[in-house]
Amino acid sequence: MSTNPLLLRGDLLADATNSDSARRATRFHSETGVRPTLATILVGDDLASATYVRMKERRATRAGIRTRHVDLPASTDTTRLVDTVAALSDDPDVHGILLQHPVGEHIDERTAFDAIAPQKDVDGVTSASFAAMTLGGTGFASCTPGGIIRLLDHYGVTVRGANTVVIGRSPILGKPMAALLLRRDATVTVCHSRTRNLADHIAAADLVVAAVGQPELVRGEWIKPGAVVIDAGYNPGNVGDVDFAGASRRASMITPVPGGVGPMTIATLLSQTIDAAEASVDSSSGVAGPRPTAE
Ligand code: NAP
Repeated sequence: MSTNPLLLRGDLLADATNSDSARRATRFHSETGVRPTLATILVGDDLASATYVRMKERRATRAGIRTRHVDLPASTDTTRLVDTVAALSDDPDVHGILLQHPVGEHIDERTAFDAIAPQKDVDGVTSASFAAMTLGGTGFASCTPGGIIRLLDHYGVTVRGANTVVIGRSPILGKPMAALLLRRDATVTVCHSRTRNLADHIAAADLVVAAVGQPELVRGEWIKPGAVVIDAGYNPGNVGDVDFAGASRRASMITPVPGGVGPMTIATLLSQTIDAAEASVDSSSGVAGPRPTAE
């Protein structure tokens, strides 16, 4: 269809969101004397995870959010990790907790995630947050899907009634993405490694969210003309899960890789950290009260 689809510039929206977070962090500090604080936990010595955490911490610092880093050795077991997370959950000086995924196969990651107090789950990984995303109510959005919803809203993409295909069903990305889209009244199909005829599902989609981790799995010719394409995949060499050049010949809007979904993930994390800090203050003080935060 279009040879020039609109680029959904997550990098630009993330800059604006981070500036807003910085303003809110400054206001929170001047009103309470406390800096919004994000605790980060890294288990093991995976290089990519260490890089992600450092990047998140740098952005947090730039937005006026204090970070507290906890490094745990690869030999850490579930009990020790749960104890660490629980201590941070109980610490009144910590407003948000990020437990970097993956934590190592010998650890029960679900149990560790669920040790995060729901009101500090600014990465949106606990069962409580998932319930909020699915059923409604108070809770945080998983950061990547939450960031994608922010991006769709910013560009005025109509989600209600849209035929939407989410490719991938991971607990941090595909499943919460499907839940948030369903809450926005999309008609949602979730595809995964056992899906038959992936191309046929994608060909019927007004909105495609690729969240797989396989370079250019989604071929340009599968895209319905005029569809909106969100590529959450990030593979070595800055390659997404979608054949960008091919999809750009048919899509009406598409996210670049990099500069699309990635920056919005971090911006959502920081914005939700400020939400958590504000909600931690007794509403009777007049500063802020709890609010429903799941998108
Ligand atoms: P994951 O846990 O490995 O999940 C991958 C999903 O893709 C699984 O549900 C899997 O199906 C499905 N899948 C695998 N091969 C498939 C195929 N041939 N056809 C259809 N579905 C297939 O990955 P993840 O953590 O969700 O991450 C997915 C991608 O997003 C990765 O590239 C990752 O780097 C990226 N990511 C980006 C951000 C960001 O901020 N931009 C954040 C997180 C992740 P089964 O369930 O059947 O195995």
